[in-house]
Amino acid sequence: MSEFRLERANKGRERRCTDAPQVDTVLPSADTPNRRTAFPRHLNPLVCAFDRKARAYCFSQSPRTPIGFHERRHDEPPTRFCPMLTIIFDESATAFSADYHPERPARLTMTQTYLCDQHPDWAWLLPRLASEEEVLRVHRPEHLERLRLPVDFDPDTPFYPEIEEHALRAAGAAIESVDLALRGQQAFSLMRPPGHHATSTRAMGFCYLNSIAIAAFHALEEAGCERVGILDFDAHHGNGTEAIVFGNNRVRFVSIHQHPCYPGTGTASRGNVLNWPIPPRSPAERHAAAVHQALDRLVEFRPDLVLVSAGFDAYVRDPLTEMTLEAEHFASFGRWLRETGLPVAPILEGGYSNELPILIEAFLTAWSD
Ligand SMILES: [Zn+2]
Repeated sequence: MSEFRLERANKGRERRCTDAPQVDTVLPSADTPNRRTAFPRHLNPLVCAFDRKARAYCFSQSPRTPIGFHERRHDEPPTRFCPMLTIIFDESATAFSADYHPERPARLTMTQTYLCDQHPDWAWLLPRLASEEEVLRVHRPEHLERLRLPVDFDPDTPFYPEIEEHALRAAGAAIESVDLALRGQQAFSLMRPPGHHATSTRAMGFCYLNSIAIAAFHALEEAGCERVGILDFDAHHGNGTEAIVFGNNRVRFVSIHQHPCYPGTGTASRGNVLNWPIPPRSPAERHAAAVHQALDRLVEFRPDLVLVSAGFDAYVRDPLTEMTLEAEHFASFGRWLRETGLPVAPILEGGYSNELPILIEAFLTAWSD
């Protein structure tokens, strides 16, 4: 595609803005591919990626065109834009599976297709891998070695080939979500595997590396945050996140989850960790009110950033839980987060029903309105 045609194609997909950190639009260069495209061909959406070095977005109109970057010529006037919402996604996150397992690639592929269809104006970003240094702020070195050992961790958490790299990419996506949030943008990490059950030394509950904790420590130690809050509304208690951040006075962790349920923790609050165990089949309004209360407790902590373990398995028809939330409740969570006025970095955790795309879309639309 010529540069002229590309510029025309991009018209109407850019939202000029003056109140957010600004970046220059650059055009794709097919001869310098360094990131892969990530769209189903039939949707032919705009493909967008962010080049950290150039601090610039790059577009391609065709899924067949490899994304690359080139510097804007110095005599070209910069074009400024601000995407409505960025989805951080890499199709390689769909490359591992086990036939019996509910944490399956279709969770992402269905959502990708649906979001592309409903929101062709949303930008898409390919994540990087988390570095070893970033991961070792949270996990023990022996844990990384264990991820390379081809032995199942437990019946829920099988070994998959290259699972270490998949988990590093999900953690890298969470970090990218933080970096964009702190630049005044909104980005959702649509990746797998999930992470909030993983402790510093153990993979469990479909989780291998604790992406939300890795992103939180990146925010604290690299990105200049003094305090961060973590909201976990996945139907399961984020036991790994709690274990990692407990006692850290720069982090407040709030979790609203079904109890009794896997993993059986999160029955009481302690120190910087606040838990709201919700009995199975509780009225949805009671559950949602607990989420609102938890978010209030985060806001009063005055965090520089709110990370969100966004799990959608408290949905009434989720096959793994016995909760009663509907899409409108996840939309409320998104709206309440927006109304805090704080930078927010949400990442996908659980959610196993076939309506997962609708639930994610409801949450993101309300958050980004
Ligand atoms: Zn869950």
